[in-house]
Amino acid sequence: MLKELWNDAEGGFHPAGAADFLPESALRQVQLTRLRAVVSRAYDHVALFRQRMDERGLTPSAIQSLDDIRQLPFTVKTDLRDTYPFGLFASPLGEVVRLHASSGTTGKPIVVAYTREDIAVWSEVMARTFACCGMHRGDILQNAFGYGLFTGGLGAHYGAEELGATVVPVSGGNTDRQIMLIRDFAVSALCCTPSYFTHLIERAGELGVDLRALPLRIGIFGAEPWTDGMRDHIEAAAGIRAYDIYGLSEIIGPGVASECAVQEGLHLFEDHFYPEIIDPETGEVLPDGAEGELVLTTLSKKAMPMIRYRTRDITSLITEPCDCGRTLRRMRRIGRRSDDMFIIRGVNVYPSQVEAALLAVEGTLPHYQIILTRDQGLDQMAVEVEVTPEVFSDKVRALEDVRARLAKAIEHILGIRVILRLVEPRTIARSEGKAKRVIDRRHEGT
Ligand SMILES: [Zn+2]
Repeated sequence: MLKELWNDAEGGFHPAGAADFLPESALRQVQLTRLRAVVSRAYDHVALFRQRMDERGLTPSAIQSLDDIRQLPFTVKTDLRDTYPFGLFASPLGEVVRLHASSGTTGKPIVVAYTREDIAVWSEVMARTFACCGMHRGDILQNAFGYGLFTGGLGAHYGAEELGATVVPVSGGNTDRQIMLIRDFAVSALCCTPSYFTHLIERAGELGVDLRALPLRIGIFGAEPWTDGMRDHIEAAAGIRAYDIYGLSEIIGPGVASECAVQEGLHLFEDHFYPEIIDPETGEVLPDGAEGELVLTTLSKKAMPMIRYRTRDITSLITEPCDCGRTLRRMRRIGRRSDDMFIIRGVNVYPSQVEAALLAVEGTLPHYQIILTRDQGLDQMAVEVEVTPEVFSDKVRALEDVRARLAKAIEHILGIRVILRLVEPRTIARSEGKAKRVIDRRHEGT
């Protein structure tokens, strides 16, 4: 049994960590009490929610059990755009102490708000996230998530302080300085996007710094989907344990779910965020274990409650007990974000499928880009991937061999043929935040 409580370096127990280990009946009671309160709050203060409830002939008293949540209307991303900027706030501005915004792909950003209590909850769930990943007081966390309107930087910052760790608020970018600080401060944990960390590993190698020889032992990665193949690469190259965390601005930011030492699914902090899995076509709630779209309800949020928010992320819930001892349900890693999907010749493709195929073939590096073009009305998909210097400098046969194996792996996963371009290391642009994996040039009139 791996049961690891939320201990600091001296063995003290942080009381908030107890919520991870509540007996199921107690957890469900907490959820129901909070659900009823948040539905009342949204009904009383958010015009859009009240209108949708009224249309259904519902009042907050309809919530007598957790299953009654199924009667409530969904909230979707366009609701945030349509009410931009402050239309979904349930608190007066006098009680809102923080705003964040996410850029979104088109038009206006999505704005989210926090009261002082919301910031406290966010700090708590992020502290629980770090504890889940094996951090404790005494650890030095280098926070390379971007600070600013993006929720990653400040969310991680407050959570690490809440845990009692020492935060280095370096933000994203300036990779050489990041590496210097990791070494000079004996940093033990680092958080950023997985794609940025692969860049950091590569740069450390160029500078002659062996990350495996440093005290760094924990990597906390989120804000973009990544595969188990990428995890294997990161863990081997940096000599760390790499953990996946999950969150989204609309719900709170990072801190919605986290992997634990077992690394089999992410524990949802479901005393604050109530999960459902629905059929994305019909909206029907699916049984535990079935794959579908994750829907989240914020149970304790004050400034901007989200009722049945459709995340567009595809996953399933794991209800079996976890070896770490936490009673919180887990969700499978998000391999596919609906927002990232593109359609090529009638086939739905997710960048993570391409990543899985690439990383399964020896001789490739975890740096790739997908380029979509249209040639005489026909969609073309090209994958550019860097190969190791050994493969690149070797005789043509090594390159052709890698190309053949890659083509086969991709065709096997996607069922379509793609154009493959094997390029030298450092050819593809590096990102300091979320990597841009897909460049779609199909509407550029080529
Ligand atoms: Zn666990």
